[in-house]
Amino acid sequence: MKDKDSEGFFTASFQQIKGGELTDCYFQRTFQILKTKGINKRVVAEVFAKDFPCHWSWGVLGGVEEVVRLFKGFPLVIKGLKEGTLFSARQPVLSIEGNYIDFCLYETAVLGLLCQSSGITTAAARCRKAAGDRMLLSFGARRMHPTISPMIERNAFIGGCDGVSETLSARMLGEQPQGTMPHALILVMGDTVKATRAFHQVIEKDIKRISLIDTFNDEKFESLRVAESLGKELYGLRFDTPSSRRGNFLEILQEVRWELDLRGYNDVKLFVSGGVDEQSILQLNPLVDGYGVGTFISNAPVVNFSLDIVEIEGEPIAKRGKESGRKKLVRCPQCYTYRVFPESEPEGNCPCGGKFENLTISLIEGGEVVYPLPSPQELRGYVLGQLSHYEL
Ligand SMILES: [Zn+2]
Repeated sequence: MKDKDSEGFFTASFQQIKGGELTDCYFQRTFQILKTKGINKRVVAEVFAKDFPCHWSWGVLGGVEEVVRLFKGFPLVIKGLKEGTLFSARQPVLSIEGNYIDFCLYETAVLGLLCQSSGITTAAARCRKAAGDRMLLSFGARRMHPTISPMIERNAFIGGCDGVSETLSARMLGEQPQGTMPHALILVMGDTVKATRAFHQVIEKDIKRISLIDTFNDEKFESLRVAESLGKELYGLRFDTPSSRRGNFLEILQEVRWELDLRGYNDVKLFVSGGVDEQSILQLNPLVDGYGVGTFISNAPVVNFSLDIVEIEGEPIAKRGKESGRKKLVRCPQCYTYRVFPESEPEGNCPCGGKFENLTISLIEGGEVVYPLPSPQELRGYVLGQLSHYEL
């Protein structure tokens, strides 16, 4: 093995993917056959999900900007929903129009981008919905390959997290990374109070003082020691208590809250991390002010999108089980009723009286990006605005 072969990670580069090197081999063979036979047909292909994982009834579309970056400069017309749009099963989220040989090598990559990102944005949005206004941070970078951390954290943030703990991803989002302290600091310092005091002395004043409780001793006594030592400077306590030791976690938190309040520490907030998911958020909400969610978001199940041809040379055609013809998705801004219409039909009015709004917009025309790409903060706001219309 040459030296250079043992450097870097087992990941593909943007150039390799954009060059069509990363594809299922049958698309390469299709390309080869169509080229050899001189068949070059103009097609429209659509992306949709037949159903969702985990009994989800809606999803949040992620990965659109990456798809736009992938196809920028290609002789194609790409239409679709804005990134962050909430959608249901069997609704078209993206379409690609062009000569089939110009994009057949990219199905693998396009679906990969949309499927994983949409799973993460949806899981984050579900946690946001469960947590209400409570603080929600993404702590799951450590569970996934580091090269995709910025993609994961971007989708966690867009889906509704208030912040992310991993530094490079936070910088790429234009956000301050958010976190507390690790068990390692407390172990190395030898004591929770000592570690929290050192944190208070060394770390910039604008970073909230949140002490990690559960390294050495009982949560109640450790919480009181830290509160008494830091007084008003203490913003909150984080409980990362492993599930094997939790027993009735809600009772532990109840006891801590009681003892803190009794001594006047009513302002000290309680944060929970470690194996948090949407169910535990719903259970712990009465006592918890904020959550650090890891695996549930970073390792979210993917949305199983497929890409299907729906039109060839202007004629509607599709495989069995799939409606043919190019379509658009519309939504009533008043009652959030969705309808799928043939693209050429006017969208008309909703039965409620509202006027349907066309959600299928042009993203790329002839290689040019024709859609002003929103910032992650704008996308997050868009998701949060829609979430009030949905139930978990
Ligand atoms: Zn309506």
